[in-house]
Amino acid sequence: MLSRRQVLRQLSSLPLIGGLLGGILTDEATAAASHFTYLDDGYHDYFNELGLRTVINAKGTYTSLTGSLMPPEVQEAWDYAANHYVELTDLQDKAGRRIAEIGRSEAAMVTAGAASALTLGTAATITGTDEEKIRTLPNLDGPRREVIIQKSHRFGYDHAVRNTGIKLVEVEGREELEEAVNENTVMMLFLNKANPEGEIQDEEFVELGKKHDVPTFNDCAADVPPVEHLWEYNEMGFDLVTFSGGKGLRGPQSAGLLFGREDLIEAAKLQHVPYGNTIGRGMKVNKEEVLAMLVALERYVNLDHEAQWERWKSQIESIQSAADTVPGVETEYYVPDIANHVPSLRISWDQDQVQITPAEVQQRLREGHPSIEVNGGSEDISLTTWMMRPEEVRFVGERIHQLLEGATAQS
Ligand SMILES: *Cc1c(COP(=O)(O)O)cnc(C)c1O
Repeated sequence: MLSRRQVLRQLSSLPLIGGLLGGILTDEATAAASHFTYLDDGYHDYFNELGLRTVINAKGTYTSLTGSLMPPEVQEAWDYAANHYVELTDLQDKAGRRIAEIGRSEAAMVTAGAASALTLGTAATITGTDEEKIRTLPNLDGPRREVIIQKSHRFGYDHAVRNTGIKLVEVEGREELEEAVNENTVMMLFLNKANPEGEIQDEEFVELGKKHDVPTFNDCAADVPPVEHLWEYNEMGFDLVTFSGGKGLRGPQSAGLLFGREDLIEAAKLQHVPYGNTIGRGMKVNKEEVLAMLVALERYVNLDHEAQWERWKSQIESIQSAADTVPGVETEYYVPDIANHVPSLRISWDQDQVQITPAEVQQRLREGHPSIEVNGGSEDISLTTWMMRPEEVRFVGERIHQLLEGATAQS
């Protein structure tokens, strides 16, 4: 078998790749980049070859860190799909039916992420199956269509709804919402994780939608676990519900789920691939995303969620006890109520005793070998283990202990 160095040498003798690698690869980078022993010599270490370092993800599901890792059976489904042709619309229909069964909704489809589902679902409420309108979106004739949202539910992804040309109408409370409904209203948008902040909570929101015959859309992108959320909001009566595929479900990062009413999912599919002249054409999913998303979902609902929770909890506790042994350090086990609802750890310290700032700890962890990414605030760092490989947990605990202890003032 070839050694890593031989592979690299061979690679760089190829004109194209050699040019690509020549400028950026150093021996140190090569040595530093591979920290996992399963990357045996002879395998391509592509990221390394590009001069990149892989990281231990103790942050959670962040798009900038590439989300989650697809489990082996999901990767197998991806590979299977990559090797066969199939009629794409038929695949969406058949996979959608299975997905809808799992989510206990009338219908479902695979989208290019939750943000894509927001666009396709909104577009569906505007155009229905009207081909002319689908082609014309977002510049329809007549007054701008309106989507009602509670002020406290405005969020960083609502561009995905606004890009259909609608106007977001902010309201506070039941009375304002009912006054805001008019003949231009196409949808009512709900951000699931903002439920506790809104004056109108989920069930009442659904009730108001039904009363005024306006479709309701619930964005639950980061809201599994718990697994029950996959059907809870469909059963509650939301007309559209989305989840990210590449967060807790560990499907492709380039995929998401859109559940909903049959007529709306039909209309949403018409805004999407393979149809060319549509708002969703640039949000392509191919057979790999559709199949791997379905397989990821099936895998996820069949997991032993209790055992998984216990595993995460004990992983957090092991990092917690490693950090706790440094004098002046305080740790707190916590679980966010909704969105990223997983065992998490907050670590803070008395900076007179442990003389390093959270930002410095974050930086040192990032620059270490292997590199570790954690969340950092002004007063603490925080982390989760659910996106880590099990064998990384001990190392993270040791590294944090080492850093904090090393910064302890000598008396
Ligand atoms: C992550 C997220 C999105 C975007 O999801 P993608 O699957 O990355 O498109 C949308 N809304 C909320 C609330 C999210 O957390």
